[in-house]
Amino acid sequence: MTPELQQILLSPWVLGLLGLCIGSFLNVVIHRMPIMMERDWWADFVSMSLSDDDAWRRVFRRKDDPPAAQRETAKALTKELEALPKLNLVTPASRCPSCGHQLRWHENVPVAGYLRLGGKCAACKTPISKRYPIIEAATGLLFAATAWHVGTQPVALAWCGFVAALIAMTFIDIDIQILPDQLTLPLMWAGLLLAMFGLTIPLKEALWGAIGGYMSLWSVYWLFKLTRGKEGMGYGDFKLLAALGAWLGWKMLLPVVLAASIVGAVVGIIMRVRSDQHIPFGPYLAGGGLVMMFIGEATVLDWLGWSGY
Ligand SMILES: [Zn+2]
Repeated sequence: MTPELQQILLSPWVLGLLGLCIGSFLNVVIHRMPIMMERDWWADFVSMSLSDDDAWRRVFRRKDDPPAAQRETAKALTKELEALPKLNLVTPASRCPSCGHQLRWHENVPVAGYLRLGGKCAACKTPISKRYPIIEAATGLLFAATAWHVGTQPVALAWCGFVAALIAMTFIDIDIQILPDQLTLPLMWAGLLLAMFGLTIPLKEALWGAIGGYMSLWSVYWLFKLTRGKEGMGYGDFKLLAALGAWLGWKMLLPVVLAASIVGAVVGIIMRVRSDQHIPFGPYLAGGGLVMMFIGEATVLDWLGWSGY
């Protein structure tokens, strides 16, 4: 590829447009991945627990057979699960959740499709959530900002992937309070691989970032659980911080957690969250990671007075 072509293809404008399209795909991921995961869990529960007589005997310390009702339930559920229409990230094509109207290509154009439809389904006029165009626009803007920040070099695409994964995780965590392993773990491995190939940060910093990210929140979790008898966060949060550490390095862990906690506290006060309410920490961690990526290690460490280390 000629340098001129690279300049154009990796420019903020082109990556911004790519971001709009990826944002449209992220809407599909955010909507479908939780449903796919929950279907898998049900299928696992039915096949591995409900239908497994030996497992039942081990768990309940019995020698006889499971009750007939349990077997019938397992059979009925298996049938129902098998009858569900196929769903993955590609099929079926995007459709209106209330009337099933399949989107035509021009209705599916990021942001513009929504605006042209006036925010309503073309067939049944049910309002379409503003979240769809907002996620598309935000992804476009963040991709453009990433291109501008990283510069016109191929690793900018990797950083765009980092941004996309964080956006998907943020909204899935808001929706179902879960950070899917399918997103946190590949993000961590990708960060370690990029460091190993010398494309981002030194491998040592990435490795300690991943280890430190996981261990630090894991320790806080157990401290909370043992001293106050409650769980302040989930295992997904540890994995997400491990991923952020793999991409940003161990020195950025504390700044990320500080930023996440401050924003989390402010939002909690504004929204008057009660202490017994569960608020997902993932979106704040993801946000903290994004902010720290854009500010950059040198500046952050300078603010903290650590630049000499
Ligand atoms: Zn409709």
